[in-house]
Formats: sequence, structure tokens, C-alpha cells
Amino acid sequence: MGIEDASMRNGRALSDQWADSVVVRPRTTEQHITVNKRLVLGFAISILTLIVVTAIAITLSLSFERCAAESSGVLAANGSSNSKWKQSRDGNISHRDSEDGQQPWRHLRLPANLRPRHYDLRLSVYMENFTFSGEVNIEFECVHSTKLIVLHTDRLQVEKVLVYSDSKKAGAMRIQRRFHYQPKQVYVTSLHREMKPLRIYKINITFHAHIEHELLGFFRSSYVLNGERRFLAVTQFSPTHARKAFPCFDEPIYKATFSVSLKHESSYQSLSNMPVEASTSEEDGWVTNHFSRTPRMSTYYLAWAVCNFTYREAVTDNGVVIRLYARPDAIQSGSGDYALHITKRLLQFYQDYFKVKYSLPKLDLLAVPKHPYAAMENWGLSVFVEQKILLDPDVSSFSYQMELTMVVVHEICHQWFGDLVTPVWWEDVWLKEGFAHYFEFIGADFLFPKWNMEKQRFLTDVLHEVMLLDGLASSHPISQEVFEATDIDRVFDWIAYKKGAALIRMLANVMGQPLFQRGLNDYLMTHMYGNAARDDLWNKFSEAMQREGKDINITQVMDRWTLQMGYPVVTISKNDSLDNSVTISQEHFVYDTDAKIQNPELFNKSFQWQIPLMLAVGNSSHISTETIIWVSNKTETHRVGHMDGETWLLGNINQTGYFRVNYDLHNWRLLIQQLMTNPTMISVGNRAGLIDDVFNLARAGYLPQNIPLQMILYLSQESEFLPWHAASRALYQLDKLLDRTEDHSLFSDYVLRQVEPKYHKLGWPATSADGSFMRVAYQTQELQREVMMLACSFGNKHCHRQAVSFISDWISSNKNRIPPNVRDIVYCTGVSLMDEDVWEFIWMKFHSSTAVSEKKVLLEALTCSDNIFLLNRLLNLSLTSDLVPDQDVIDVIIHVGRNPLGRHLAWRYFREKWDILNSRYGEALFMNSKLISGVTEFLNTEAELNELKEFILTSGGESAPAFARAVEIVQANVKWHILFQQQFYRWLRKAPDG
Ligand SMILES: [Zn+2]
Repeated sequence: MGIEDASMRNGRALSDQWADSVVVRPRTTEQHITVNKRLVLGFAISILTLIVVTAIAITLSLSFERCAAESSGVLAANGSSNSKWKQSRDGNISHRDSEDGQQPWRHLRLPANLRPRHYDLRLSVYMENFTFSGEVNIEFECVHSTKLIVLHTDRLQVEKVLVYSDSKKAGAMRIQRRFHYQPKQVYVTSLHREMKPLRIYKINITFHAHIEHELLGFFRSSYVLNGERRFLAVTQFSPTHARKAFPCFDEPIYKATFSVSLKHESSYQSLSNMPVEASTSEEDGWVTNHFSRTPRMSTYYLAWAVCNFTYREAVTDNGVVIRLYARPDAIQSGSGDYALHITKRLLQFYQDYFKVKYSLPKLDLLAVPKHPYAAMENWGLSVFVEQKILLDPDVSSFSYQMELTMVVVHEICHQWFGDLVTPVWWEDVWLKEGFAHYFEFIGADFLFPKWNMEKQRFLTDVLHEVMLLDGLASSHPISQEVFEATDIDRVFDWIAYKKGAALIRMLANVMGQPLFQRGLNDYLMTHMYGNAARDDLWNKFSEAMQREGKDINITQVMDRWTLQMGYPVVTISKNDSLDNSVTISQEHFVYDTDAKIQNPELFNKSFQWQIPLMLAVGNSSHISTETIIWVSNKTETHRVGHMDGETWLLGNINQTGYFRVNYDLHNWRLLIQQLMTNPTMISVGNRAGLIDDVFNLARAGYLPQNIPLQMILYLSQESEFLPWHAASRALYQLDKLLDRTEDHSLFSDYVLRQVEPKYHKLGWPATSADGSFMRVAYQTQELQREVMMLACSFGNKHCHRQAVSFISDWISSNKNRIPPNVRDIVYCTGVSLMDEDVWEFIWMKFHSSTAVSEKKVLLEALTCSDNIFLLNRLLNLSLTSDLVPDQDVIDVIIHVGRNPLGRHLAWRYFREKWDILNSRYGEALFMNSKLISGVTEFLNTEAELNELKEFILTSGGESAPAFARAVEIVQANVKWHILFQQQFYRWLRKAPDG
């Protein structure tokens, strides 16, 4: 609110100064003319023409206005849904418009008076001094009369500006004034004469700038090849950094075509979204590449690179040329082949799934040593950080391969969801990110059906993960209003990615795959080369349903899920009467109800959702087919199938819904009994779901603490990976909460008792590394790994001895015979149990290893030491030396904090180095919030809570969402100890052995 008031105050002050030039114009003197009939007729015709032209102009401008307004999230709905949510948004803009409509450069959004059609961009790139100069010609259409051309620029030195009209008169239009307005990163050119609607104009701007060291805009990075440092320059424009490379209308709604040419020394090569159309060499060793004109696209998807990489190539059946560019040594060793291979298959997959062809003649994948994100889906030139695209099959673990695969699947999906159809504005960024994240699982299932990602891994990696975050009172709705440029970075968070994906999955399951696919196809076909908002998608889905005679208003349902924060817990309880009825109620799930009461925005607010609840009833010998019940009231009564005292109820079948389910205690006992006697009666997904729900419900105080502990007694019967994975995630969480308490061994011994039978049964993986994971179901190996990890970290002696002997063997033979898939467990266990020499050995290996995946595992192992001195040394080295890659520094600090001995060390280090960390990572808020939550989430004493609050005050971090979350989590941790710790240990003291 404060920001808004301040900008309005400035606005009024400036309006006086500008009133003369912008508003007041001299009037032409009226002249009397002699009237005759012919003139009257002529006059009438011209008036008529004028009216027709004006009418057309108004119609056109209105429709453009409408989409611009929609895009700002202001007039969001086409007559649909809840007016309550929209009111405040409406109020906002009209207020602003009247206040500083005269100074459009002060707004977050560009004035919608002009619309770009084509950019002709020529750049000369000077790698020897990291500068570039450019000339851009923007052809644009005037929508509303205006004298002002407002373009985005940032860090550019503008030299010359010329404006031309399309009228026959040659020569430039007179410019009255031009200036840069830094607070909103715009460059304003004010003309003497007004530009007129429906007319085409051109602006020509010459400029120069630096190729920055910071990883945004047009930036440089380097790598070492044969002992020689080599440089490359590449772009990262999303979300708002195209303006750092050329003046432009830098908002997603202003789609245009682009013709790019790049001039550089011929020792380099250049790439852009499109193929090179013509290349001209000059005598002095310079070359200019002219790239073909792009389709209509948003500025933030434009990209280019100047480097001396080499490539491998593949061609799809439709003739699309795919090239993977990387360091020559990586290409030579074949590290890029895997990504290239799956990309080729994925292009075909998405074309078939969406029934929309890939739009460009080529797709380049560029592996760069440094990048602010894992990857960026620029159209036809996707950029990846090396760790997310290069794979050395001999040393990479399965999880590394899986992560890399998911990143590639994600970026290729964006070529449709993002590049081809772009969200109108950043508040709906989840539309593209949620989809791409959801499709990671669908696409991976296509590549490797045995991975079973959508049905299984999605649950633990997406659903359970994001419900942790979204169960906080400091969470936020997935569609976030964006008022300031700084808000734009903030919307790229896990809520957008993971909750987006979870909601889309829920919807896909309710609709059924054929209808879901039809709706998507319709959406892409209607909006291709354009922009769309969430309502456009919901409308297509509703239409697809209606054509099948299913009358569900998707907008109405989904607005509840996207405009409200959080999610419900659905409580199902059997009624005592004999009418086979159940009572179903819903309430907003929060871990700490106090936090909700303390939050003025939430206090007294009761959220309600329209919940598609899939419900089944079962007993020891039979489970019914599920029925879908739409729950939209606080409490409802429903009749289900026949029930008796031994019948259990199971909600959220296969955990397709984005909510938790609670039951009466009797039902929990029946479910646990079922798991103990015959777990396979309940699906794998539901077994994992029950585990996640039961632990989190107990954590938040909805259930007694012994219920989750009783449930995991069944684990020795469990032979599937996913429920084990869900359990180990929950157990590690709990372990971090308890690991500094006196009775901790009661807990770890209890866990070990559940794990050991399985551990002894499965044993260790075979020593040979044969990369067979691509052919077999990964679950078998992953289950073995998961159980090993639990055994080693909770203190199984056999597991420890094995790890130690592997490390000793490695040191004495200098041959690493540790299976790649469990190296992280072995290294970490070895470092924590063995002496300093082992730490030094791993540290040395970290330096000498060239495989990126192995390097990361070695580095993380160093954080497992129980030697405070070594942990301290590692923290200092990682921040101050060049030895640790930038993106890994944060992981080092977080991992030290996960080590109970390093917990306070990491927390103190984080506070001491806050200024350095903040200046280094501040821009990429996504990483920053990962760091903040990483170092604070396991703090759980009153003293640590106070330290946190004090630190936030002194560092000025009050407004950062990550800090609000951190306080709430630590507060809930402290509260859990006060309320439940005793009860928890009391039960463990007399626990059955299992
Ligand atoms: Zn993405």
C-alpha cells in the first residue's frame, strides 16, 4: 500500500510540470467558408467516412483494450465467478488511472496505445571488451491517439532516436523530448504531433551496453578448455530482462515478429531462435548472421548466444533439426547424447498429444556453465545449465538422470505452453509453469513407462511437497496479483509450479484423459501465437465437458482453488445410524491455527472449496469401485454402499485430489489393520497418501501422535518404493524436529526396528555399474536405496560397516567400486563416521572430478562431518573461493544445517554472511527463498525463534514472504514440542516392537 501512495504523490507533482507540453495545445483559428450544395455533399460523405473509420477504430481498440485490461488481472472474468475477489482489483486500476493517467511511464504496465508488429534488431557483439552496440527498428501500430512512445529499457545507453510515420511524407517526425525513467525502466519519446489510430509508425533507436557479468539480460560466462579460459555470451530475458538488451515493449501481451542479426568475430558462432538465413563475412575477420523472421512471440522468449561450442544433431520425422550445443569436450565425450535422444522423442510425443505441430524448423538446446535457473525455454533455443542436460551414464546416479529428464521434458512442453500460447500476464504464470511441471510426469511416462511417474512419483515429489508449504497461514493464492516489477520474480515459486501441477492433475483426473486432451487441443488451436488467461482454458475445458453432456462449470470450480490460498482437509466419519450414511465436512488445513488467527487477512475468514472426492468402501476381502462426490458445503451427509462395523472408508482414491483426508479414529484403526494384514488391497498411491496424511494431520494436531507411529508398523509388509519414500520423507522431517532432544534414540530405535527386516532382505546393490536403470523399473533399485538410506542414517551398524569398508577400499585401491546409485549414502556415512583424512580425501576428489553429477554428490558428503571445525572450513571455502560453483553454495549451507551438529553453525553463518549472500543471490529470489527456508526450517527452540525474529528486524526482511514462512514454521515447531513431544515419547516408551 505504501508504495502505491508514494508513487501517486510523485505523480501529481510531475503532472504540473508536464501539463503544458502534454495537455494544452494551441487551437487553430476558425475560418469561415462559403457553403454550397456540392461542398455540403462532400462534407457529408467525409463525415460518413469518418464515422465508419472511427467505428472500426473503436471496435478494434476496444478489443485490444479488453485483452490488455484482462491481462492486468483487473477485469479478470468474462462474467464468470465470484465478484468478491474481483472487486478490489477493479477498484485499484480505476483509482490509478484517474490519478496519474498523464504520466503513463509511472505505471507498472505500459500504456496500451501502441502495439508492436515487427522488430528488426541488429547487434554487434564485442567479446574482447564485453560490450555490444545495437540498432532496433520497431514497426508498431497506433491504437489510441498519443504523442508518447513508452518503451522498456534498462542499463542501455540510448544514442539516437528517430520516429517515422507510414504516410507518404518522408522524413522523421519531430521529437519534443526524450528521457529515461529508471524507476519503471522505461524510455519515453514525446512527439510534437499526435500519432493517429490505425496508422503504422516506426521507431529507430541506436544504443550500446555491457555484456553483463550478472546472469540476466545479455550476459557472459566462461569455462576452461585445455587449460585455456574461453568466454561465451548468452541471454536470459524472462521475466523482464529483454529490456537490458534492446528497447522493446517488454510485456508478454505485446507479441510481435523479430528479425535478428548478430555481428561478431568469425572465431565465434552465433545462435538465435530461428535458423541462419544468410551469413555475410567481412574482410577484417567479422561475420554477420541474419536469422529468419520469428513467428509472433513475446519478448521474453527471444534469445541469442555467441560462443564457440560444438554440437550433435538429430532430425525428427517431420524434418525438425535438433542440435545440442555444449563445450567441445562434453560433446566429444557424448555427454549430450542422452538429452538429444529424448528431445527427439519428446517433440513427437507432444505433437501427438496436443495434436498441434511444433512451430519452428529447428530446436537448439544450449548447455551453459552458468545460468540463473535450471533451464529456460526460449522458443527454438532452450538454454540449460550443464548439470541439467549433460549426463555421463557411467557415473551418474538414477536420481540425477531422472531430474535431468524431467527438466528436459518440462522445457520441451513449454514450446507449446508458454512459447506458442503465452499467459497474458504474470499473475497467471502458473498456467505455463503448472502445465510444464505436470507434463514432466506425463512426458517421462511416455519415455519410460516403467517409471510410473504420474501415478506414483508425482505424489511424493509434487503433491506432498507443496502441501507442506501451502498448509501455512503465510501461503498465498496461486494466482497472485502483480503490482510492482519486483512482484514478478516472486510469482515464480513452488506454489505456482507444484500447486499448479497438482490442480491440473486433479482436473485431468476428474475430466478423464480424452476430454482433457480435447480441451487442451482446443485451447492451443484457439490461442496459438497469442496470449491466454486462465478463464480461456477453463472455458475450453467446460466446452469439452458439455459436448459430452457433462455440465460442470470448470471456471466456478477452479476459481475456488486458484483464487483462495491453501487447501481443505476433508473429514469423513461414519454415522451411527443404520442408513449407511457418512458425514463429510471440509475446513481450511493449517499446521498452526494460531498463525491463522494472528494473520489479519485470514482471521475470521472461512474458505470453502468445491471438492471432487473419490470415495471407496472396503473390508479385509473386498473394496468397492470408487464413487465421486462433489463436496461444496461445510458439512454434508451422503449415502454410500453397504457398511458394517468392519467396513473402512477410503477417500481421495489414488490421491488425485489436492486435499488431505481425515477419518474418525475407528476408521484409522481399520485402515491400519488392513495395511498390516494385506496392504495391496489399497493402491500404492493411496498407501503413500495415507502415510503422508497421517503424519501431517498429527503434526498439525488433528490426530493423536501415536497414529502415524502405529501406521508405519506395517512397513515390513511393504514391498513398493512409493510408500517407503513417503514414509522416509515424513520420518526425516520428524527426525529433524527431534534430533536434538534427549530421548531421540527412542525414536531412531523405533524407526530402525521397522526398517531392519526390509534392509536385511534387500541388501546392497551389486558393485558393477551397468546403467541398467533405463531398462528396468526404477522402483526396485530405488526401494533398495531408500531402505539403505534409512538404515544408515538411523544408525544400523551393518549399514555403517559396509559404507566404511567401501570407502576404505576406495582409498587403498584408488578405484571407486561404489555403485553410483548409492554413492551419496556411502560418502555421507563414511565422512560422518571416519576420521579427518576421509574428509580430506573426498575434498580432493571433489576437486579432481570432472563429472558434474559426481562433483555435487562429493560436495554434499562433506557436509555430513561431525567435526565442527571442518564444517566451518567448508562453509567459508564455499563462499570465498572459486572452487565451489555459485549454484552449489546454497546447497552447502542448507546441507550443513541438516546435520544436527551443523544446525546452529549454518544458521549463524547465514546471518553473518547475509549481506554477501543477499547481494549475490538477491535477484534470483527463488534461490534466495530456498536458502532462507533451508537454514531455518529445522530450528525449533524458543531461543532460535527469537534469534530469527530479531534477525528479520535487523536485516529489513519483514516483507519477504520467505521470512514470514520461516517464522511460521519455526513457531509451529516450537509449539509442537510444547504440546506433543511428551505424548509422542510416552507412547514410544511402551511401544510394541512391531
Ligand atoms: Zn518452466
